[in-house]
Amino acid sequence: MTRHYDYLAIGAGSGGIASANRAAIRGAKAAVIEAKAVGGTCVNVGCVPKKVMWYGAHIAEAIKYSEAYGFDLQQNGFDWSTLVRNREAYIERIHGGYKRGFESNGVEYIEGFARFVDKNTVEVNGEQITADHITIAVGGRAIIPSCEGAEYGIDSDGFFALEERPNKAVVVGAGYIAVEIAGVLHALGSDSHLLVRRDRPLRYFDEDITEALLERLAQDGPTLHTNTVVQKVVKGENGLLTIHTETGDTIEGVDCLVWAIGREPATDKINLEAAGVEVDPVGFIRTDKYQNTNIEGIYAVGDITGEAQLTPVAIKAGRLLAERLFNPDLPDAHMDYTQIPTIVFSHPPIGTVGLTEVEAVAKYGEGNVKVYRSKFAAMYNAVTPHRALSTFKLVCTGPEEKVVGIHGIGEGMDEILQGFAVAMKMGATKADFDATVALHPTSAEEFVTLR
Ligand code: NDP
Repeated sequence: MTRHYDYLAIGAGSGGIASANRAAIRGAKAAVIEAKAVGGTCVNVGCVPKKVMWYGAHIAEAIKYSEAYGFDLQQNGFDWSTLVRNREAYIERIHGGYKRGFESNGVEYIEGFARFVDKNTVEVNGEQITADHITIAVGGRAIIPSCEGAEYGIDSDGFFALEERPNKAVVVGAGYIAVEIAGVLHALGSDSHLLVRRDRPLRYFDEDITEALLERLAQDGPTLHTNTVVQKVVKGENGLLTIHTETGDTIEGVDCLVWAIGREPATDKINLEAAGVEVDPVGFIRTDKYQNTNIEGIYAVGDITGEAQLTPVAIKAGRLLAERLFNPDLPDAHMDYTQIPTIVFSHPPIGTVGLTEVEAVAKYGEGNVKVYRSKFAAMYNAVTPHRALSTFKLVCTGPEEKVVGIHGIGEGMDEILQGFAVAMKMGATKADFDATVALHPTSAEEFVTLR
């Protein structure tokens, strides 16, 4: 006898969990299958441990500039392993919360690796399980380059497994993960180097923001190496690495090399062919706006779709899918992939939603785009010798100056953006921003006082 479900999610990451819970809440007999730890990338080796490390880095920075606030501190040390232990204990508690959530919602949690047998059947631990609706939410994994000695490097999973603080770290890549890991390592006291193959990291972000990031990197670190491509990695007898670049430079004495050059979909081992599900040349499962794959009854959500690889996107897409399938009142429920706000936890954080200036000009024409920007010293820094500037920017279009892009790098930007993203989603204009009374003294008020 095989087990049968109305709804089955493969992968208990953000998308799989959210969709299975919502399906069960709507009355479906639901299950979720996971081969590793419940919570997937975000909880175990992504957003959650990253943010804990970032908070640690934040404290290190506060200590550094505390003298200006009158503190006479003596720092006796920093114990990486304590931070890691407390971080992992927190993650354990999150695991418990997920499992209690499954119990109360009536979702069955199945540990094991699922492979498709046919379009309605998967095999797990030798057992065949069938379902009317199957969602693939198996996420992705880091790409490791093919250069000589690449195996001496680790990926972001390896970073979170580090038991000690590295002395000298090289992080290769130019996206969210590279910027975040290099920044955390630097703030926590490693000699940290960020290697990008072109002229800047976060190339697709608004130029004013990346310019400001470049200034902050030059002023505060980590050390940025632009136009730098790793040619080979050599491990010495002392166990330390030498990074050789294509221009003939070397970085020596490296005890931690992190590859953060992007992520690839984990579709290759679940026997998708048996179900007939098509993937694109990279392996992503492309879906329509309803998360449908090419096979009826099989859906995909989250990183595996290659769309906006962000936890809240996977959660929203998963929940809306479950609503569409099991809530008769919402037959058209689907994710809106426009105007998705995101934060890079750099130092200070970067927040962005909507179009960059370049994208807005391309879409609406130069004469139809008006930009407002402010470069200012946040009060937090103004009383310290750390005169780091924040940059906030609005991109507007049309005679009514509809806000189509909000960008910022500065203290508190991670918490500021959410509310402004709501305003933008509702179609706010520059006049609406201006009509809002400022909150003083904050950095956020810059957004309603831009001239
Ligand atoms: P990204 O795809 O964001 O960035 C990787 C970058 O590395 C590329 O854009 C490219 O930039 C550069 N790169 C690619 N190949 C090479 C190479 N061979 N050598 C050197 N550099 C290379 O990947 P990440 O791994 O940083 O992140 C994956 C996804 O995870 C992100 O897209 C994001 O959606 C999500 N994420 C979100 C976070 C958040 O919300 N805070 C945090 C972490 C991850 P270039 O072409 O400019 O060289």
